[in-house]
Amino acid sequence: MDDEERKVHEGFMREAIKMAELALVSDETPVGCVFVHDGVIIGRGMNETNRTLNGTRHAEFVALAGILSKHPISILKETDLYVTVEPCVMCASMLRQYGIRKVYFGCWNERFGGTGGVLNIHSDPSVDKPYPVHGGIFREEAILLLRKFYVQENEKAPEPKQKRTRELKTEINPMDVHAPKSMKSEAEKAKMKAEKVQVNGTANRTVTT
Ligand SMILES: [Zn+2]
Repeated sequence: MDDEERKVHEGFMREAIKMAELALVSDETPVGCVFVHDGVIIGRGMNETNRTLNGTRHAEFVALAGILSKHPISILKETDLYVTVEPCVMCASMLRQYGIRKVYFGCWNERFGGTGGVLNIHSDPSVDKPYPVHGGIFREEAILLLRKFYVQENEKAPEPKQKRTRELKTEINPMDVHAPKSMKSEAEKAKMKAEKVQVNGTANRTVTT
């Protein structure tokens, strides 16, 4: 990616971040996105799961609803998505079924990511055409927005948690620490597996007592 190209992508990601900031002041998980067709933003979205009490109102679905009210679904085949956080498993699958051209995202989603963070829904063998992804654009900003949200939510809780958990951490670990799970070494995977077995064992005991 040359400088010129990078500027274009950063410009659109900046717009996605504005949507995430809007979500933050609306007490929604700060994730924002824009869909770009021929250099023009054709849809904007932010998370709306709290206001709507609907867990499927992710930024991508919200933006898509707006796009589909004006365009045929086929427009997505020539459209790129810029989203502050890696699409979750649900959104990653929707994007593939609708044939998105490419996805640019800020930070990885280590719990629910569908494009490398946890699963590889964008590229696994499937009947639908795979799509390329590019992560890490304004990654720090995306992470800080999420942290601000969790600090803000804790402060609003009826019994605020210990002060330690309310402080906004601004230090961001280098990339490799946040590398997608699919890139973890075999040793790490084995360790995780062992831990999981242990947790399951504990859970089983709890059930039987
Ligand atoms: Zn999602």
